[in-house]
Amino acid sequence: MKILVTGGLGFIGSHTVVELLENGYEVVVIDALYNSSIDVVDKIKIITGKDFKLYVEDVCNKEKLDEIFSIEKPDAVIHFAAYKAVGESVSKPIMYYRNNLVSTLNLCEVMQKYGCNKFVFSSSATVYGDPEVLPITEECKVGGTTNPYGSTKLMNEMILRDINISNPEFSVVILRYFNPIGAHKSGLIGEKPNGIPNNLMPYIVRVATGELEILSIFGNDYPTHDGTGVRDYIHVVDLAKGHLKAIENMKSGVSYYNLGTGMGYSVLDMVKAFEKVNGVKVPYKIVDRRPGDIAECFADPSKAYKELGWKAEFGIEDMMRDSYNFILKCKEDK
Ligand code: UDP
Repeated sequence: MKILVTGGLGFIGSHTVVELLENGYEVVVIDALYNSSIDVVDKIKIITGKDFKLYVEDVCNKEKLDEIFSIEKPDAVIHFAAYKAVGESVSKPIMYYRNNLVSTLNLCEVMQKYGCNKFVFSSSATVYGDPEVLPITEECKVGGTTNPYGSTKLMNEMILRDINISNPEFSVVILRYFNPIGAHKSGLIGEKPNGIPNNLMPYIVRVATGELEILSIFGNDYPTHDGTGVRDYIHVVDLAKGHLKAIENMKSGVSYYNLGTGMGYSVLDMVKAFEKVNGVKVPYKIVDRRPGDIAECFADPSKAYKELGWKAEFGIEDMMRDSYNFILKCKEDK
């Protein structure tokens, strides 16, 4: 089976390509290298000992996409390619809406032209907005997204549902990720955001290596067990495996799955776990809440287990160890 992976050199994409190759799939990657590096190609080949085809192209270029489909004729598509910086999406909404929506529209149009009817979409728990009940199930209300990035995820979900209504042969799996962290155990691939990180884990590792001075914790007055924000952190390799399960167990229609562990950890829990596992201090200070943040968010992942046979295997210690190992290895290689 041949799978086309858009954004296959990015953080979640690269780990998914590794899992696909290790499980005997033929993989074709399209990546525009906006937020990823060409070095990842060799790293994936070293990890897996397998080869794959790469097109350095933008999925928003429909002519190119059509050409790639005419050559490759993939059986299924996993669509990761998207802009993903929440803050940037607020200052550049047009860029975010154009890129994140046009890419999906192009893909769906070209897929239908070439009779490719299996689509896995990289969505996010952000579509639930500020959750009314916890843990979050797939039946929870969606909407109330607080930034253009989150809105593009929700709009893509709506677009995919409508395409399935117009063409029931077009099967869609929507995977709503909670907070992916960690890295491949080899330390060869992981998350390396450009510039100062926005997300918690990349920030913690940079403070631990001394590249950044101190972690700012955004608020300690939330209604959580220690006042800091609670999230459901999931190891990126577990998340990657969820995509294989989605492909293997794809049904007709549109299916939605939460990919999380079901466990909630606060910012302070994360700092303490990191210090304990890696034996390094992470200095922090408490600052004001970050606008748009919610207090608490964690998944009920039982639907993915029942229907896909998927559940997260890695614990918080693995995530801490692998995140740090990746950054240390990057520094060594410099
Ligand atoms: N956070 C923090 N300091 C940072 C980055 C994040 O205190 O420098 C907190 C943030 O307020 C939230 C949690 O860490 O409670 C996870 O934030 P992240 O941006 O990683 O994910 P998201 O908010 O999108 O779930």
